Amino acid sequence: MADSVRTIKPAVRGLKAYSLSPHSASVKLNQNENPNDAPVAIKEETLRRLANRRWSRYPDFIPESLHEKLAAFSSWRADGVIAGNGSNELIQALLMVTVAEGKRVLISEPTFALYRQVTTILGGEIDSVPLTDRFQFDIQRLLDKISETRPDVIILCSPNNPTGCVLEDDHLRQILRLATGLVVIDEAYHEFSEHSVVPLLSEFDNLVVLRTFSKAMGLAAFRVGYLLAAPTLVTDIRKAVLPYNLNAFSQTAAEVALELYESELSPLVEEIIKERRIIFEGLSSIEGFEPVESRANFMIVKSAMLPRRLFEEFLRRDILVRDVSGYPMLSEYVRVSVGTPKENELLLQALSEISTQLQSERKVVISNRDTQE
Ligand code: PMP
Repeated sequence: MADSVRTIKPAVRGLKAYSLSPHSASVKLNQNENPNDAPVAIKEETLRRLANRRWSRYPDFIPESLHEKLAAFSSWRADGVIAGNGSNELIQALLMVTVAEGKRVLISEPTFALYRQVTTILGGEIDSVPLTDRFQFDIQRLLDKISETRPDVIILCSPNNPTGCVLEDDHLRQILRLATGLVVIDEAYHEFSEHSVVPLLSEFDNLVVLRTFSKAMGLAAFRVGYLLAAPTLVTDIRKAVLPYNLNAFSQTAAEVALELYESELSPLVEEIIKERRIIFEGLSSIEGFEPVESRANFMIVKSAMLPRRLFEEFLRRDILVRDVSGYPMLSEYVRVSVGTPKENELLLQALSEISTQLQSERKVVISNRDTQE
């Protein structure tokens, strides 16, 4: 048999696959989704429109009506919008048109793993600036790195997954002025931070903003994301997007979600923001655990217990959290998404039990030590 894997690029063979543990539980706090199902009004209106559409016909070649609604929703221009099959597809398309052998991409880690993954597959080089030890963007080091390596693309996630820190507009302005390439801000979680960099799009034509329907918009099942940028950039990025990338079901659901956002989704986002405070305070009061302030719908928590073991203790209690200990700087952390009020109560109750268990295990270790001495 021929050694067919030899044809795979060495950089790809050296990569670990992007993966997620296949566990399931009744309380699912591991993927930063909206913990509420899509509201019935959105489901019913989507299904009604789909029932009246011919399923034998292709979806729109370019989903103009969705682009127009996205433009109105985001206060940007419709010819500066691309809707995609999840924002993942748009991250890939953007990197496909910018990255090749010898190109440099600057990121700040820990962050969403896909930027490094796709850049490496395309043959580009990643430069990574760590967050500060308080998990904030290290602006000075980012600016120094930009001057030193002149990256072709800079990708920053704000609020950042998995830490929840936000890049301030003044700092972004400094980056945009210094950068000679594109500056991409991934705003997958912007609704929870009540902040957006979209107003800067009219000032800077090297800015690209990515967003998704998988989080606040409650449509993760349907895979819709969008990109906002100057029309000239959009024309080129679109060349890497496959024809009919957005199916009719997803396009319809996204349009309905936008139309009903204020009445149906915005109250759920407000509740998640309130619950984030409740969880933060609850977690802070439990011995052995230390949450980190976040502007997204999740937060990381430092654990006195090994993160893998903590993950398993939660799973035994039918709660799924994310073990992020494999990320740089996070060897002692798990990440929890903000759930519904009931789910958050269960999370805090489970963690109190785990903490009590941890304290009693520590006492046993100390008393064993005493008897041995
Ligand atoms: N960006 C960030 C920062 C994310 O956390 C995620 C999903 N976890 C995505 C993009 C991808 O979102 P989508 O479902 O739209 O592909």
